[in-house]
Parts: sequence; C-alpha cells; structure tokens
Amino acid sequence: MTAVNGKTKVFGLLGNPIEHTSSPFIHQLFYDELGYNGIYNPFFVPEGELENAILGMKGLSIKGLNVTVPYKVEVMEFLDRVDAMAMHIGACNTIVREGEDFVGYNTDWIGLKMACDHESIPIEGKDVVIIGAGGSARAIAFMCQRESANSITILNRTVEKAEAIAAKVKAVNQDVEIRTGGLDELDLVLEGSVAIQTTSLGMHPKVDRCPIEDDEFYSKVDFIVDIIYNPKETLFMKKGSRHGAKTMNGLGMLYFQAVKAFELWTGLKLDKGQLQRGLTKLRQYVYNENQG
Ligand code: NAP
Repeated sequence: MTAVNGKTKVFGLLGNPIEHTSSPFIHQLFYDELGYNGIYNPFFVPEGELENAILGMKGLSIKGLNVTVPYKVEVMEFLDRVDAMAMHIGACNTIVREGEDFVGYNTDWIGLKMACDHESIPIEGKDVVIIGAGGSARAIAFMCQRESANSITILNRTVEKAEAIAAKVKAVNQDVEIRTGGLDELDLVLEGSVAIQTTSLGMHPKVDRCPIEDDEFYSKVDFIVDIIYNPKETLFMKKGSRHGAKTMNGLGMLYFQAVKAFELWTGLKLDKGQLQRGLTKLRQYVYNENQG
C-alpha cells in the first residue's frame, strides 16, 4: 500500500448509510495491483446535504466518486452532464471529473455484463427473464437491450412497475421484444432462458425467501443470476442448481462495477490476471468475514 502523500488521488463513496460498504476494500485491491497512489473514502452524506457534498467535492478537486443509496437518482440534478445510458436508466452510481465538469455514469449495468462475460453466461441472442422491477432491474433491462438479448421478460409483484420499465426500453428501441407479467405468469418464460433475480428476497438474514417457488420456472431456465451476494448461494440459486442451471451470485457485479469506475477515473486497465486475483481476494474477504 502506498503511503498517502501530496500526490495521492482521492476517490470516494457518497451514501447514507455507508458503514457496511466493501468499496474501499475493492478499490484498494486495484491500487495495490497497479501501484497506484490513490485512496478511497466512504463519505456519509446527511439528508438534505447532497448538493453541498457535490459542490465540496468539486471544490476539492476530487477525481471520482461513487454514489449509493439513497442518492443515485437525486444526484443527477447536481451534475454538469449525464451519459446516455445513465440517463436511460435514470440513475447514476459513478461521477467522473472531466476537465472542470462532474459527469454522471452508471456502471451497475456494465458490472453485471462484465461479470456474466467472466463466468461465460451469455446475454446476446438469449431470452432473458428479469425478476423484479426496481432500480437494478431497470439498469439490467437496458443492458439486455444494448447487448442484443433475443427477448426480455420482466416479472414483478407490481406489474405496473415492470410495464413502466418495458415502456422506457421500448422508447429507446422499438424493435426490442419485451414482455411483462406477475411473478406467477410462468407461461411467459421461454425454454433455455437466462434468469436474473433483482429483488431483495433471499438476502441475509431472510435467506429462506425466494420470489418464485414453482419448479416449472426452474425447469425452463439454463442460467440463473442472482444479484444478491449475501448469502453466497441464495435459495433462488439453489433451486436453479437442483434443476441443472449454471448459477452466479451478485459479487461479480459489485466487483466489476468498481472495475469500470476505476477505469473511467484513471484511464488505467487491469489485465486478466490482476482482475482474477482481485476477485479471488474479494471473495475471501466477503465470505470469510461475513459467513464464518
Ligand atoms: P428496489 O429498487 O427497491 O427494487 C426492489 C424490487 O424487489 C422490486 O421489484 C420489488 O417489487 C421487489 N420486492 C421487494 N420485496 C418483495 C416481496 N416481498 N415480494 C416480491 N417482490 C419484492 O431495489 P434495487 O435497488 O433494485 O435492489 C434490489 C436488490 O439488488 C437488493 O438486494 C440489492 O442489495 C441488490 N443489488 C446488488 C448489486 C450488486 O452489485 N450485486 C447492485 C445493486 C443492487 P415491487 O415493485 O412489487 O415492490
């Protein structure tokens, strides 16, 4: 680890709460791999103080920031520009200083895409079922559209929210095949699908919960992605595994959204070996510490 000195570049995370974030650990992995003189600090932003926080960060020449709950949407109004994909998604988790400007990006969608690539889970040409219709689902629906999934099906407890996402995606690409329904509308699920679970159901400590119980669903899907990473294997993943699906949890998404943010901030890229070493260390850190 490089000692902090006058040349240290400062990055950070704006959120509320921020005590449980793994982001400083992840970014330190990149600094260590590349001998980069950087520091990543979580910044607690009290309610009503986001604009002041952004102005302060600008004035202090901060090079880059992540933004987390509850500020991913609100922050957009305080930025100089927002990139097209973040605009479509309607949320921004990464701010990059470009000259004098703070520019907003969304690296959650690309984090999931990079994680899928890393685990050889295909999106292009596949029928993708997204479970849930919250902020992450919207980012993932746009990712599927951008990566040319054959079709997108969004199933959610509140069907109107799934319909709203579908309408946003359609507005960008009229030709996209997109369907919506409730969590029990399993006739919408096509054989050989990739299923991406984006609700909070099954997250620690309520690990016995799962958005879809019916075996019919699991018998139709070949790939199961759960963007939850605690527990390491969710009930949704266990059910998929039992039916022979290949599974992946959300730790890779978390890791690769940070990789992309680091690339945007520094212009540096980690090679394959460095990326793999970092991911292995993150797995050890998260699962040894949180799960004994
Ligand atoms: P969000 O915007 O609040 O959306 C929550 C979704 O969960 C909605 O679709 C909601 O359905 C559904 N839901 C909640 N409780 C439910 C219940 N009892 N039964 C059925 N559906 C239920 O949340 P988000 O920001 O998208 O995040 C969702 C999850 O993704 C969280 O667990 C978060 O930790 C995880 N996440 C992981 C990463 C990563 O890097 N791995 C990144 C972002 C988020 P309704 O619309 O019907 O309310």
